[in-house]
This record gives sequence, C-alpha cells and structure tokens, in this order.
Amino acid sequence: MKPNKKLILSLVIVFLLVFSLQITFAAENPTKPNVVILATGGTIAGAGVTSTTTVGYTAAVTPVDKLISNVPELTKVANISGEQVSQIASESMTMEIWLNLAKRVNILLAQHNVDGIVVTHGTDTLEETAYFLDLVVKSKKPVVLVGSMRPGTAMSADGPLNLYRAVILAGTKEAAGKGVMVMLNDTIHAGREVTKTITDRVDTFQAPIAGVLGVFSGDQPVFYRKSLRKNTTATEFDVTNLTTLPRVDIVYHYAGNAGTMIDAATNAGAKGLVHAGTGNGSIGKAEYPAVENALKNGVVIVRSSRVGNGIISRNGEANDDKYGFIASDNLNPQKARILLMLALTKTTDVKEIQQMFWEY
Ligand code: ASP
Repeated sequence: MKPNKKLILSLVIVFLLVFSLQITFAAENPTKPNVVILATGGTIAGAGVTSTTTVGYTAAVTPVDKLISNVPELTKVANISGEQVSQIASESMTMEIWLNLAKRVNILLAQHNVDGIVVTHGTDTLEETAYFLDLVVKSKKPVVLVGSMRPGTAMSADGPLNLYRAVILAGTKEAAGKGVMVMLNDTIHAGREVTKTITDRVDTFQAPIAGVLGVFSGDQPVFYRKSLRKNTTATEFDVTNLTTLPRVDIVYHYAGNAGTMIDAATNAGAKGLVHAGTGNGSIGKAEYPAVENALKNGVVIVRSSRVGNGIISRNGEANDDKYGFIASDNLNPQKARILLMLALTKTTDVKEIQQMFWEY
C-alpha cells in the first residue's frame, strides 16, 4: 500500500474509533446542552413502602433510566444520557468506585459533545465524593453532585426537583470553572466546603464559614461567589493510572482516650492518619505514646477537629514543627482524609503536604 493510502486508512480507523467511543444523546437538540447523569445510588434512588415512609426505606433501588424518565422535565432543559456507575447507599462508598467514577467523568468531559455531568449520590458521603472529584477532575466543565433526603416514593420527595436543577446547573455556562458543585434544596455549594450537618432534614447541606456559592431562583442559578482554593485543572493530582489509594484512617479523640485506635490504625498498615481532635485539633496527653509510635512507623499525621468547623492553627494546640504534624486548615476530618490520601500518591514529605493543605 502506498504511504498516502496508509495514512488515510489509519486516519479513518482513528476517526471511527473516536466516534464509536463517543457518547450519544437520544433525540439530540442542538439548542440544548448535553448532560450526562452518572448514577451511584443513595436515597435519591430509594423507595419506601408508603408515601409517608421517610425513614426505614430502601436506598439505591431505582435504576438511572427510571430516575430520568421519572422527571420528564429534564429533557426540556438538556439532552440527557444516563449511566449506572454503582447502585449503593453512600455509606458503603469505596475507593474503587471513586476511582472508576473519576476516570469516567474525565473521559466524558474530554468529549466535545459533553457539556456537563450530574452525579446522583447518597447524602451520607456526598461531601467526600464531591471533594475527591474536585481534586481529580481534569476539566472546567460543570460537575454537579445531587442527592435527596427523602426517597422518590415519599410525599414531598425532594429528589426530582433537586435532579432537575442539577441538570440545569450542569448545562449552564456560568457554572464552568467553579469546581465540583453540590446542588440540593435550592442551594449551590462548593464541593470543598459543603458538609452534611443534620441527619434528617432537607436543609442538611451547609458550608460553615464559607457560605453558599449560589442559589436557584426558579429555574435560574444565581452565583454570588467562587471558592479560591485550587481545584480540578489547577491541582497536581491525577487518577489516570491509579487503581487504589493509600490507606488513611480517621481517629476520633474524646475524654479518657489513650490512643488505642491510633495503635490499631498503625498496626493495620495505615500510611496516614487524620486525628479528629477536640477543639482546635488538640491531642490528649495519653495519646502521645501511640502518636509517636505511629510517626516512628512512617505514618503521616494530620490534625483536624471533631468540631467539624473552623481552622486548625498550626503550632497552636500541638507542636506541629517538633512532631511533623500537618494542620488541616479548615478541612473537616473526612475531607482532610481525602486530601491526605491524594497527597500521599505524590509525596510523604510533611512540609510539601502541609503546603497542599494551605492550597487545596
Ligand atoms: N444513607 C443514604 C445514603 O447516603 C442517605 C441518603 O442518601 O440520603 O445513601
């Protein structure tokens, strides 16, 4: 075959390959944005026995196709395509699902015909997945996590409207470059800052100190601010070749604690530990032998707080310089764990990791 023909043939093969991998949208309308819904489970896909069942229902039963067809209004605001990534209650979230989800988000967002992504998720660990994606998604296109506090079968179910608005948000140009967002209860939050604050109410998601990114006014998202911390394309984290994440455990401090759980984590092979201290990240006197043993075994320790809100002052309640601790800034323990896991994929140098906690 002549070199010219060879080149043309390979170009055709590459084109066909790229085209066949590209996601398609049913009845695509060029005037509407293309939004992919990645479903992971949770109460938004939950069902109860009666319309008044708001506790004791089964989470993660409705498949993504049904979630979409249950809200026909979605197709009025976007061209939709759905994929089932997992079907779990989010308290059972795994690192494997996170990595698969992140890789899928990155593949989809790299496609020119995808404008934004919505991830449906249980509310228990929604804030963790949101921050994880915020740190590893490599695109400025909108990614929106959405959940609900009531199952779809409940009177006044909050899932359908939340989903509808999440799709609008994911298809909104102004939402690009705002990091991974969380949309529930008329409110738009930054993935880094949002946390679940109430066990059983629809207004559970709040961003202490930072506040909301924006709100919905009817069908219109209205933004008021942007997070200044590095996210998505500005981070150094890359999940492309990761199949697992370093083990990081969280230990909770309380009166009378003598470090038993720190020892347990060290013995279990933890590479990092987030200490959910009292107040401004305090460590009890009786915990220090276990802390020193962990450090001797190469465990990297981040000081956070069980208060779940506020800054951990470096060298405040503990001598961080002397021990080589890292202060978590204002990341709560579950979010500090995510940053520490990703940091440990890059380095074990505590100075470098501290710098990451100031930046992300
Ligand atoms: N346990 C449920 C979950 O996180 C709660 C919810 O989705 O609201 O999947």
